[in-house]
Amino acid sequence: MTRIGIIGFGKIAADQHVPSIAANDAFAFAAAASRTPMTIDGVETYTDYKRMLAEADIAAVAICTPPSVRYAIARDCIEAGKHVMLEKPPGVTLGEVEALAETAEARGVTLMTTWHAQANPAVAAAADALAGQRIARLEIVWHEDVRKWHPGQAWIWEAGGFGVFDPGINALSIATRIVPGKLIVRGAKLLTPANKAMPIAVELGLTSPAAEGEMSASFDFRYTEGERWTIKVLTVAGPEIVLSEGGTKLAIDGQLRATEGLGEYAALYAEFASLIAAGRSHVDLEPLRIVADAFMMAERTEVEAFID
Ligand code: NAP
Repeated sequence: MTRIGIIGFGKIAADQHVPSIAANDAFAFAAAASRTPMTIDGVETYTDYKRMLAEADIAAVAICTPPSVRYAIARDCIEAGKHVMLEKPPGVTLGEVEALAETAEARGVTLMTTWHAQANPAVAAAADALAGQRIARLEIVWHEDVRKWHPGQAWIWEAGGFGVFDPGINALSIATRIVPGKLIVRGAKLLTPANKAMPIAVELGLTSPAAEGEMSASFDFRYTEGERWTIKVLTVAGPEIVLSEGGTKLAIDGQLRATEGLGEYAALYAEFASLIAAGRSHVDLEPLRIVADAFMMAERTEVEAFID
């Protein structure tokens, strides 16, 4: 059994990592570090992750902080000889994650990037349905209310916080899994509030060697009527594949398909256990590469200030 610590004990650590570790016999939740003092039954807690690395009896770490601090923390964990799971996005730049992968290999520990939305069984089924297909149209719509889903998360608006790409990268992680061939950014429009560093809405034009028609993505934090987390793919051969509710539901030509599997975080921890046992790493940079490309070539428009 691998004793694991969590660094960055916020929403996702409590909502998903703790129950998924508890449900997996390969892991024991042994320690946690966040800068705010906390008490967790049966778990050693720290306000300084470096003390946790020095003192706690753990072999692995899940890093659930905001992305901007992830690289320095992950590097310290790897250098301390810990296996590392990175929450998404795995870093703020491609270079950070590439450097972590090299360090993990040199140190002989497992490094795993996680793209939780990609781990849905419906996404694997959609990828199977699209294998070898030509794409006539792809439309990604990822609209949600930032006040509902990211209350008080000031980091999301700061440089390295990703703004609306924080949820949008989940959609891109699904798209990279289901579209045959590489996804390429052809155009990007970023709408950024006058008082923030990161975008509140993004429109992307995309293409792929498998595409024969339009591919687009729309991310928007200003949608207050619920959530729209949908990817529609029309194939040249005919079938329309629709992933809805964040990649949890699959319909082919309007027929809902039952899909079986572990579910997002259970699947991630099962993979982490397998990688550790096999002495391997899994580093997938594609969703982050698309975001980096979008930032590189974007038209930028300032919009009204956002007050949380
Ligand atoms: P959050 O609620 O703001 O939690 C982040 C935690 O990290 C906070 O508890 C913060 O606590 C801690 N932290 C910040 N800097 C730290 C540092 N230097 N050392 C140790 N702890 C530090 O954010 P979240 O929603 O959980 O998101 C965290 C990551 O998970 C993001 O990358 C996000 O994209 C990803 N994610 C979130 C969701 C979701 O539904 N929320 C879903 C999937 C993935 P202190 O300030 O007390 O240190």
